[in-house]
Amino acid sequence: MFLEIFDPKAPPKPIGIDLGTTNSLVAYVHNERPLVITDCNLDALTPSVVCYEKNGTVTVGRAALAKAHEFPRETIVSAKRFLGRGADDPETRKLGPYEFVAPAAGEANVVRFRVNNSVVTPVEVSAAILRSLRELAADELTNVGPAVITVPAYFDDAQRQATKDAARLAGLEVLRLINEPTAAALAYGLDKQQNGTFAVYDLGGGTFDVTILLLEDGLFQVKSTGGDSALGGDDIDRAIAHHLMSALKIDDSASSPSFTRHLLNIARDLKHELTTKSEVHVELTDKTIVVTRDDLNAIVKPLAERTGAICRRALKDAELSTGDIDGVILVGGSTRVPAIRQYVESFFGKAPLADIDPDQVVALGAAIQADLLAGSGPRDDVLLLDVIPLSLGIEVGGGVVDKILPRNSPSPTGAKATYTTQEDNQTGFTIHVVQGERELVADCRSLARFTLKGIPPMPAGMAKLEVLFQVDADGLLSVRAKEMTTGIEQLVAVKPTYGLDDAAVEQMLLDAYDHGEEDLAKRRLAENRVEAHRLIAATSKAVVADPELLDDASRVAIEKAIADLEKAAAGSDPGAIHLKIEALDAASKEFATRRMNRAIARAIEGRSVSDVSAELDAKDRHNERGEKQ
Ligand code: ADP
Ligand code: MG
Repeated sequence: MFLEIFDPKAPPKPIGIDLGTTNSLVAYVHNERPLVITDCNLDALTPSVVCYEKNGTVTVGRAALAKAHEFPRETIVSAKRFLGRGADDPETRKLGPYEFVAPAAGEANVVRFRVNNSVVTPVEVSAAILRSLRELAADELTNVGPAVITVPAYFDDAQRQATKDAARLAGLEVLRLINEPTAAALAYGLDKQQNGTFAVYDLGGGTFDVTILLLEDGLFQVKSTGGDSALGGDDIDRAIAHHLMSALKIDDSASSPSFTRHLLNIARDLKHELTTKSEVHVELTDKTIVVTRDDLNAIVKPLAERTGAICRRALKDAELSTGDIDGVILVGGSTRVPAIRQYVESFFGKAPLADIDPDQVVALGAAIQADLLAGSGPRDDVLLLDVIPLSLGIEVGGGVVDKILPRNSPSPTGAKATYTTQEDNQTGFTIHVVQGERELVADCRSLARFTLKGIPPMPAGMAKLEVLFQVDADGLLSVRAKEMTTGIEQLVAVKPTYGLDDAAVEQMLLDAYDHGEEDLAKRRLAENRVEAHRLIAATSKAVVADPELLDDASRVAIEKAIADLEKAAAGSDPGAIHLKIEALDAASKEFATRRMNRAIARAIEGRSVSDVSAELDAKDRHNERGEKQ
């Protein structure tokens, strides 16, 4: 019989994990210093690659990467891009040479890869990577504790949930998921006690993310995020490969897939070498090609400029300019490229913080957070605030979106807005909850639709509908609608970003950016049409109701103005509709004044009767009491 050897002096050691698209790392805090854990080759990076072989063997990391060439369909790279995405998401089809399997009836709507005779989901692939990291940690630490795992700041609820599921599958207890840029800031900020506004510039293998963070006495607030899920070191590799092709005078289309892969590997090595050297000689076919740092700079320039445009937008969203940024944190292997560093420096007008290895900074920050949450040291907790990635609103008249919670609002958060009925005797409101940046409902994502019923009939404009939006710390939205005069209320829980992946979020942001002016014109048109129809209906109704207040000339003028407005509203010029609205207002002004005066006179009459009787009643009661006293 064996006795389990257990060292009671070794408490579970909390770990921090950077589960990256290209590479993953695990770190922990030792003697108050965060350290990454390396493998037997002293390599801290585990490529985020999993190979499923025919005989059932599952290989992870560098060994799996080596098999990608031989088994392209069975070797899953960049599984993170598929996390939390629907099986029918057209975006996922473009990624990689995989064989996708549609979910069977009743199965969850997630991506499935066929790998030999089995089927795996991105959650399982991520779990294999996490398991491998846990084993790496177990080699170094006697007792592996719970983990803090990092996710991109823009990850939606489904993607965060999928990451948690992967950890559970890997047998890891999750202390907390934190945002990658926040982890990077923790690695810098907490150690060095820096407060201020920081930009975290993360250029990895296949993705670019920028985050504007506010650091204040241990409070981390994400002010805005931006990115491109198809921009990274891989693009530099492709551009260098292209450069080599033209140097060899080979046509792109003439290259075989295996030659292309060979060239991409050469390109990556060359890129890494040019980080420290000023020129590199490559032997290719029978030629020697010299690639200089200047060549690389020219290749990288357009990519760097694309990141600049995204940074500019993130700054704009945070209502800041480059001068407001106290420091720039470099994250991701591709920020080692000197031209990228120089670009970042000139863009922000200051040298970026780079004294922590950009490959490791996220994992180190995660380890610090894990230590704060579960470690032995007597340190204060760190409060992390997050933001909602896209605006939340409801549909109002004319298919226009009324944004209730603008994007980048820190969560948990809440906001309310009040609406009223458009028509007389409306007994129900339909509330359509949407998410997106565009002005029209048709261009946003529909999240939920529900109806508040049982409102007693009232004239248009009398009912008061209060809509309350609340987003909790996990990013989940609930909507409460209440009719204030009757107190009728309804509550629905909505998953705010259900089915939205980062690319969709980005696309929606880009669309809003591209269509901003066009959208505003559409919105004005929709709003003016709603107003035109309301005015026509109200005026026509009044003309029928009080014909005795109208002389013939006014009647003719009003009818003409109505006809003109109807014609303008059928067209698509918001300005013309506006003019005709003003014209109808002017034509019916006198009539409206007469109606108003009469209504007031009647109201005064009516009120004086009841007021007098009420006053008398009150006096009577007072006198009665007075007598009794
Ligand atoms: P991710 O966050 O996507 O997992 P990483 O932060 O690990 O990615 O970055 C991987 C990228 O960094 C790859 O494209 C790799 O070629 C690039 N990279 C790593 N080291 C260097 C270097 N010394 N010079 C240039 N690029 C590098
Ligand atoms: Mg990364």
